[in-house]
Amino acid sequence: MLNRLVVATRNRGKVSEIKEILNVEVIPIVELVPDFNVEEKGNTYLENAYLKAKTGFSLIKEPVMAEDSGLEVVALNNEPGILSARYGGLTRDEDKINLLLKELGKRRDRKARFVNVTVLMWESGEGAFFEGICEGSISYIPKGEKGFGYDPIFIPAGYKKTFSELGDEIKNRISHRARALTKLKKFLSYYKGFGE
Ligand code: IMP
Repeated sequence: MLNRLVVATRNRGKVSEIKEILNVEVIPIVELVPDFNVEEKGNTYLENAYLKAKTGFSLIKEPVMAEDSGLEVVALNNEPGILSARYGGLTRDEDKINLLLKELGKRRDRKARFVNVTVLMWESGEGAFFEGICEGSISYIPKGEKGFGYDPIFIPAGYKKTFSELGDEIKNRISHRARALTKLKKFLSYYKGFGE
């Protein structure tokens, strides 16, 4: 029976959302391997998620999940995409948001989507992957305090507020991460007792 899941990420925002959505004991890999760090050198979300899961599994030898995600803005040719974590070479969320708003200017086509690919690996090289997409649009100014990354400027389809204004409860029901993890959860439910 799988009673805990190690997550190969250093991002605290992701860890707390994964805990909330999966409702099982989630261990950030840095608690087991403090200097865990993987260079995201893949060309796709799947390649990057796979790389993180594979590296994590090789270090701890138990089931590991890893994810890669990004924000795709249609009018910007789907940028920042897989480069979302370091858009324009920037790393601070506030700077990346300002750059994105500047690039988009006053354009009326503000369509965007968050994409998430989550990989679960339970043998070296053996595993499964799950994808989640959340459609929406980019606001004109950042709003709200909750969440992380681009949440202050992302308005999910069907809502008038940003993820940061809507807060965890709504975000963790409809986000790209929630969608991928709901599929993962269903897959894991074949392990008796998981998440009950
Ligand atoms: P990575 O998956 O670690 O490569 O990072 C993806 C980047 O996309 C993060 O650093 C965030 O800037 C952004 N991102 C991913 N998921 C979210 C989210 O749920 N909300 C806001 N930004 C996100």
